[in-house]
Amino acid sequence: MRVILFGAPGAGKGTIAGMLTDKLGIPHIATGDMLRAQVSEGTDLGRKARAYMEAGELVPDDLILEMTRRRLAEADARRGFLLDGFPRTIAQAEALAQMPGGPPDVVIDLQVPEEELVRRLSGRRVCPDCGAIYQVDTMPPRQAGVCDRCGGKLIQRSDDTPEAVRNRLEVYRKQSAPVLGYYRERGLLRSVDGTLGSAAVAEQVAGELSPRGQA
Ligand code: ADP
Repeated sequence: MRVILFGAPGAGKGTIAGMLTDKLGIPHIATGDMLRAQVSEGTDLGRKARAYMEAGELVPDDLILEMTRRRLAEADARRGFLLDGFPRTIAQAEALAQMPGGPPDVVIDLQVPEEELVRRLSGRRVCPDCGAIYQVDTMPPRQAGVCDRCGGKLIQRSDDTPEAVRNRLEVYRKQSAPVLGYYRERGLLRSVDGTLGSAAVAEQVAGELSPRGQA
């Protein structure tokens, strides 16, 4: 099953994908996580992507497409994938349809109002070691600043500052939201209320992926 988790920054794509990936037995492929790994390793791609990411702009399509095409060609992605953060432009959606395996089976839009997105992004903390995501008021770690899962030191992402957050939401409205129409026209779009607790959202997403949810 090839699934796209869609939604604005802060809608909960990474959290929900992290909860479902083992259960579904398909890899969680997050282009933002892949890019951050490239930045911290100091690769050529990381050096090119860094300034765009810190400003909350999209990384140019040619760089993203090359990286994603390679990842989707790996053996574990043949059984399917939970794609998080891609496609973010119509050009990326069109390119995905031409990649091995063709278009996705279903696209799930996690719907969250803008004021809630801003609140979530400014309170988000992440573990740079294992990728776990926390929320200072609603999903805090057991010990402040320390990852429950691996003991790593939690950080605030450099693009979760108020200025970068405003820009990311603007970029989402202009460049990414049109992708919803692209998939709606193709009958692939499902919507889930992303404001429920994460367990309830994960359950609803799983319901949309079951054969009955798709019928
Ligand atoms: P969020 O969904 O919270 O904004 P991500 O971790 O998915 O965060 O992405 C972080 C940044 O990585 C984006 O702001 C953008 O600069 C870059 N990025 C990730 N995926 C893509 C993509 N498909 N196309 C262009 N840029 C991307």
